[in-house]
Amino acid sequence: MKAIFDERQLLHTPERYFRRGAYMPHPEQAERAVLIRDMLKRNDFAIEPPRDFGEEPIKAIHDPDYVDFWKDAYQRWRAEAGDAEPIPNCHPGPRRGRPSSSIYGQLGWWATDTSVPLTEGLWQAIYWSAQTALEAAERVKQGDRMVYGLCRPPGHHALSNASNGFCAFNNAAIAAQSLRARFSKVAILDIDTHTGNGTLDIFYERGDVFVCSLHVDPATYPTYYLGYEDERGEGAGEGATVNLTLKPGDGVEQILARFHEGLKAIGDFGAEALVVSLGFDMAADDPLSEVKMTADGFDTMAREIVRLGLPTALIQEGGYLGPSLSDNAETYLTASRDELAKLTLVS
Ligand SMILES: [Zn+2]
Repeated sequence: MKAIFDERQLLHTPERYFRRGAYMPHPEQAERAVLIRDMLKRNDFAIEPPRDFGEEPIKAIHDPDYVDFWKDAYQRWRAEAGDAEPIPNCHPGPRRGRPSSSIYGQLGWWATDTSVPLTEGLWQAIYWSAQTALEAAERVKQGDRMVYGLCRPPGHHALSNASNGFCAFNNAAIAAQSLRARFSKVAILDIDTHTGNGTLDIFYERGDVFVCSLHVDPATYPTYYLGYEDERGEGAGEGATVNLTLKPGDGVEQILARFHEGLKAIGDFGAEALVVSLGFDMAADDPLSEVKMTADGFDTMAREIVRLGLPTALIQEGGYLGPSLSDNAETYLTASRDELAKLTLVS
């Protein structure tokens, strides 16, 4: 199983994050990807850089003006605001309006929250994170059974025209759209502990991309506004969205029971290819977790996803700097590789 990663994804260096009324160190640090990259090397995974597929496949998911905005947003902010911290705070909300010509207005227009501060390396990091997802999808289209895209920053909260929850480009959605060029029905299974709200929103009215998100109940936990179980898709997408919620404090048994419901739903949909939004932030010791996932639980998920038998792109999402991040990534990815090898021996 190949892994895809580009060092330019490390260039985004957010410092602070405003959460529950207080500033805290920003959890989405480049070190997350460094830890996973180094673990991949120790375990002899072949790590290859992505090719440059350009902006077109990103703009197939995102508003072209939104994509273009990020290219020089940092430089514009510095020219206008000097050393002030580049955090959006003028959001339009769901009302009529248009993006202004001001960097202050535009930054708020293209963001739902304050979690994606502009940094000098942000454009490079989000662009190459998207290219990593595209490379993983491309290889799956060419016949690889499973490819791991070490995407960072993550993507599953990003809407088609707004950043949200540390995410600017929705890497999993971009990968799924790319896979649609070869496969008529693609499923996305999101096992990050937060709702894949951006992914869900992007495909909500589409019947060709099935989205199943397993996450802590948004009634009391971020992302708060989407991911409730009665949200099932609309129009052509009616029934092609499945939200499986967990309660704070749930352990492996409850998590895996809901996970199995997700696997069944993907089978019922008739998916021909799969994108996994792979977060490790359900881990009991993850700083953002409210559930108690274990290494054995990740091992089980990895093997059962392989046994679905679908061409699969694994796209890295969350998982923060708790003690077990690297260990859980190691457990998941080596279990996937081991299970793939077993299937090859059998066939
Ligand atoms: Zn998450």
